Amino acid sequence: MNYQRPKGTADILPGESEKWQFVEETARLIFRDYQFQEIRTPIFEHFETISRSVGDTTDIVSKEMYDFYDKGDRHVTLRPENTAPIVRAFVENKLFGPEYAKPYKVFYTGPMFRYERPQKGRLRQFHQIGVEAFGSSNPATDVETMAMALDFFKQLGIQQIRLVINSLGDKETRKNYRQALIDYLEPHLEELSADSKRRLHENPLRVLDSKDPKDKQFVAEAPSILEFLTPASQKHFDDVLKMLDALEIPYEIDSNMVRGLDYYTDTIFEIMSDAKGMGAQSTICAGGRYDGLVEELGGPETPGFGFAMGIERVLMTLAMEEIVIPAINELDAYVVAIDDGTNLEALKLVQAVRNFGFSADRDFMHRKPKAQFKSADKLGAKLVLTIGEEELLKGVVKVKSMATSKEQEFRLEEVYEDFPEIYDEMTTKMFD
Ligand code: ATP
Ligand code: MG
Repeated sequence: MNYQRPKGTADILPGESEKWQFVEETARLIFRDYQFQEIRTPIFEHFETISRSVGDTTDIVSKEMYDFYDKGDRHVTLRPENTAPIVRAFVENKLFGPEYAKPYKVFYTGPMFRYERPQKGRLRQFHQIGVEAFGSSNPATDVETMAMALDFFKQLGIQQIRLVINSLGDKETRKNYRQALIDYLEPHLEELSADSKRRLHENPLRVLDSKDPKDKQFVAEAPSILEFLTPASQKHFDDVLKMLDALEIPYEIDSNMVRGLDYYTDTIFEIMSDAKGMGAQSTICAGGRYDGLVEELGGPETPGFGFAMGIERVLMTLAMEEIVIPAINELDAYVVAIDDGTNLEALKLVQAVRNFGFSADRDFMHRKPKAQFKSADKLGAKLVLTIGEEELLKGVVKVKSMATSKEQEFRLEEVYEDFPEIYDEMTTKMFD
């Protein structure tokens, strides 16, 4: 029997996990500058929470849910995305109350689950970093949140990206557009894919999101939703564009862009990577405004704006753009233990060094001193503490600075009582 990970999942091993940490830490730093705070919600939710928010006719709900009945016969699902769960938490914890900041701004990072056909950049367990801002309908919220996503990519060193935006307008916009789209598509009904045939009357906007080449030719000629914006939605969209211009943020308008989730209103956007090799998985960040969603889940009328980016796709982009992630290769002290009799003292030494707040490692494999020094070097150790039976008898340890090659003997008690002093003395560079 071969035990294998489930299809569409990945093991993130040391060597790779450092890259994840770098991406996540960069996000945390940028998000802090914009005053977003971290939120953590469960990785499974009631099926209804998701289906109600994301929409029954979306691919996510109709095909991709990892849902099941638990032992208490509750219909639950692994979360396929995190906006719906956060809106649920926002309502349930009454985060709209007067004691909370407005807009209420949160970010998250974690695994999401969709039953998809796995391919490069498309997994069944994938990971997103995302943000949500509740309570502001100011177009400046749309713009600064998109700017934050772009800042994040810039900070990572990613260059070949494009901001694509569109507006889905308000309820009235979509009602009018819906009819226009049905009128346009109906004569072609027989030529559409099976999915699109079904969706035409259920949710015609979904047809625009079809990846089927048959549908795409009709979608290309479809009427533009931008022709149907109500005056209020038109003003919001114009303001967003004006503000992007004022910040000198380049963008493209794609009036055929809809998103794979039904809750969006007004501004929607995607950040695409133009790096070679991204293939069909070139959307690295996507989001927009969802002004009705909080009400939909039982909360007071509250506008919202957010985005999510796929960490796997961000890492793919970093690789495609050949961006080198700074290696964290630092160790304060490595203990070289010579002779079997020093095993216990080596254990005490690394523990003492660590208890002073320094990082330390040692040899466990009884290797020759030369091999141990090689490890110290590879690990980027600043100091090497060598102890053999001879040193042990004398109650001393040799301390060597790897940068200067200076070596000096210290009494073991000195290490145990005041390692930081030895560390300072040995790592301060001498000038001659
Ligand atoms: P796509 O059109 O590529 O299927 P989507 O519209 O379903 O994406 P969203 O639900 O908006 O994507 O999710 C936001 C981001 O999360 C995407 O832009 C992408 O970077 C990432 N993402 C979505 N699904 C997956 C997946 N199965 N594997 C890896 N990343 C994903
Ligand atoms: Mg998808």
